[in-house]
Amino acid sequence: MKNEQLPDVLVLGAGPAGMAIASALGKENLKVDVLSPKGPEEPWPNTYGIWGTEVDQLGLENLLEYRWKNTVSFFGNGSSEEHHHENKPTKHLLDYGLFDKKKLHSYWLNECNDSFINWHEGWANEIKFEKYKSTVTTKEGKVYSARLVIDATGYDPVFLKLRSSEPVAVQTCYGIVGSFSKPPLEKDQFVLMDYRSDHLTESQKKEPPTFLYAMDMGNGKYFLEETQLGLVKPFTMDELKERLEKRLAHRDIEITSKQHEELGLFLPMNMPIPDFRQPILGYGGAASMVHPASGYLLGNVLRRAPLVAKAISKAMTDHKLPTMLIAKKGWESLWSKELIRKKSLYQFGLEKLMRFDEKLLREFFECFFKLPKSQWYGFLTDTLSLKEIVNAMWVMFLRAPWSVKKGLMIMRGREFKMLMRIIFPKI
Ligand SMILES: Cc1cc2nc3c(=O)[nH]c(=O)nc-3n(C[C@H](O)[C@H](O)[C@H](O)COP(=O)(O)OP(=O)(O)OC[C@H]3O[C@@H](n4cnc5c(N)ncnc54)[C@H](O)[C@@H]3O)c2cc1C
Repeated sequence: MKNEQLPDVLVLGAGPAGMAIASALGKENLKVDVLSPKGPEEPWPNTYGIWGTEVDQLGLENLLEYRWKNTVSFFGNGSSEEHHHENKPTKHLLDYGLFDKKKLHSYWLNECNDSFINWHEGWANEIKFEKYKSTVTTKEGKVYSARLVIDATGYDPVFLKLRSSEPVAVQTCYGIVGSFSKPPLEKDQFVLMDYRSDHLTESQKKEPPTFLYAMDMGNGKYFLEETQLGLVKPFTMDELKERLEKRLAHRDIEITSKQHEELGLFLPMNMPIPDFRQPILGYGGAASMVHPASGYLLGNVLRRAPLVAKAISKAMTDHKLPTMLIAKKGWESLWSKELIRKKSLYQFGLEKLMRFDEKLLREFFECFFKLPKSQWYGFLTDTLSLKEIVNAMWVMFLRAPWSVKKGLMIMRGREFKMLMRIIFPKI
């Protein structure tokens, strides 16, 4: 069945996920083609944050543009008296960093260029599956075949089929980079979540909560982003913008110049895991790899790429193995039973948090960040085993006040069904 001319893998998409998996496959000495609308130099639209320990463990700390040591959150009610205990920060005592997007992009390009990777420009439009290969035709009419196609085209994948049609919760955010009449946060500070709500009216407090994600970027420049954790019917950009402006006005802060506006319109937090019974593999946002609790993806994309590439490479040594079975091996390495269970647990957690009102959410997070650092950090970065996560959740439950315990125990909507999926993951 071996066709010497046929590339081993065609990766669709050149975002972080496409690049990570292409370079890992290249390191396995596979012949890899990458197809994306603007080729490898296509700029990435988002800004990518990461915890310091995570980036250090990945050995990519030199790719950070910013690194903060003063990292905090606010889970009090908030007060106009600056030193009031309701304004007391929760100190995370863990560095947080922001990648230099260009450096990160070049890093992956160099990694790819060290291997045998061919770049093509175009929009994948149609796919034809045969027993030993798949053929993609672009909108421009060009045709590319490979033994296996990997769909890394982001959250609305071009070819991958997802498994369920349950409503997806979406994270939205409205951010600005700018200067302000007075500093909106301490010098050299990073704020993961500011849930203080004293600027809201009583009726707004009954609406779904939002928080401020903020960082001091130096030279009088700050990035402030009003964010909603996840909702099936998310806030609009205008609503988030209004909330951010109200939050600032309440603290007598005016925006004096706006250098950039970030409209994070669509970040699905609990996408279903794709259907594994298809002769195509997914990677990154397309393959539901975003962390349902944090919305982060990069750490996982970097950590899992070598394992998935190895599994594909091993499967491909059997030249008679049909594409469907190569994809299956890929899926099994990407989504082991343990990872599926973990994902179900995270999704269950998100579902719970989406139902909490702002007071309960603040109480919940206050307890969560009182866990030992290794536990809350491992939970947020998806680096704990299932057993360790369950243990962390149990410790938190025992220590939580009754209001939080009650919120966690009462099962509403699809929560019971989601809980069952942790015990009986559908493969
Ligand atoms: C506002 C925002 C902020 C985020 N912040 C963080 C963060 O701080 N840290 C973090 O870890 N994660 C973050 N994420 C999540 C995640 O890291 C990003 O969404 C990431 O860009 C997803 O990577 P991806 O490669 O899967 O998809 P994408 O980056 O969306 O890349 C998809 C690629 O597929 C290409 N493509 C699309 N259609 C086709 C087609 N038909 N044919 C061929 N190619 C196609 C696109 O051009 C692109 O190259 C954030 C997401 C958002 C939306």
